[in-house]
Amino acid sequence: MIIVMKQGYKESELDEVMNAVVGAGGQNHVIRGVKRTVVAVSGEETVLRTIPFETFEGVESATAILKPYKLASLEGHDERSRFELAPGVVVGGPEIVLMAGPCSVECPETMREIARGIKAAGCKVLRGGAFKPRTSPYDFQGLGEEGLKILSEVGKEHGLATITEVMDTRDVELIERYADIFQIGARNMQNFSLLKEVGRTRKPVVVKRGLAATIKEWIMCGEYILAMGNPRVLLCERGIRSFDPMTRNLFDAAAVAVAKSETHLPVIVDPSHAGGSSKWVEPISRAAVAIGADALLIEAHPHPEKATSDGAQTVRLEHLDEIINGLRPTAAD
Ligand code: PEP
Ligand code: MN
Repeated sequence: MIIVMKQGYKESELDEVMNAVVGAGGQNHVIRGVKRTVVAVSGEETVLRTIPFETFEGVESATAILKPYKLASLEGHDERSRFELAPGVVVGGPEIVLMAGPCSVECPETMREIARGIKAAGCKVLRGGAFKPRTSPYDFQGLGEEGLKILSEVGKEHGLATITEVMDTRDVELIERYADIFQIGARNMQNFSLLKEVGRTRKPVVVKRGLAATIKEWIMCGEYILAMGNPRVLLCERGIRSFDPMTRNLFDAAAVAVAKSETHLPVIVDPSHAGGSSKWVEPISRAAVAIGADALLIEAHPHPEKATSDGAQTVRLEHLDEIINGLRPTAAD
């Protein structure tokens, strides 16, 4: 941390700063220039950061040098994270992992049809929400445990890993029993109790970016999970709020590049919630792959018009196959 003293500061004010640093276990390296005095502070920055040096008399500014997300940060890590989502399904390597399925888990027959379709298209992970974060309390809320059972059974039958959203700390244990991967929804990104709870498990966690979250806030949510000892964290860009209703959300392609340069975590893209229409799934997926996404999470259904949620942004199974085939040249570049 670098602390710059004001011009004309008093020695007693500098002493206060230095005492606070020592009290936090840090060391002071005072540089007295002709016009300014600067204190270069070394020590545990996570502790030093908690001291509001800017409010001290005589201090002009205090700037942290290290990233606040020390576990997620790429700096200090030799390699990008690469790990298994389920046996044989590796994310963060050369292969782009494809995850697809309905917004909400429906009946076993529909889930089976979806599983067959997505597997034939090259997907490795079956998605499906059993606990749904709906804007209206009168909309379909998901099948709950029944949905988890269907997701798990159908996933096993077809050799697909499974991902589902966890909305409540009370459901973590239940979902852990049924699914391979936890999804933290955009609306729950900063539910810190929930992040800590999934951080206590050892299952991979996809952290969706909040509707109006900065990239730093999003990364800090991944940091929460890492800080609890769970190393398998993925960040998911799914579009952010904008002023333009032409797309449901604004796909922030640059966020993928930024998150990948700031962190060692795999970064994935959900083109369905980003664009809000089945029409935009293909171009957004291509952009995502071109900019370095490690995986895609796509809503797919045999009959989107009959889907219990998010039908407009859900692609038909045949369309999913075309989209994935169309990605190959971009992925190969
Ligand atoms: C979903 O994946 O169906 C979902 C609700 O996503 P998000 O949290 O990104 O809105
Ligand atoms: Mn959805």
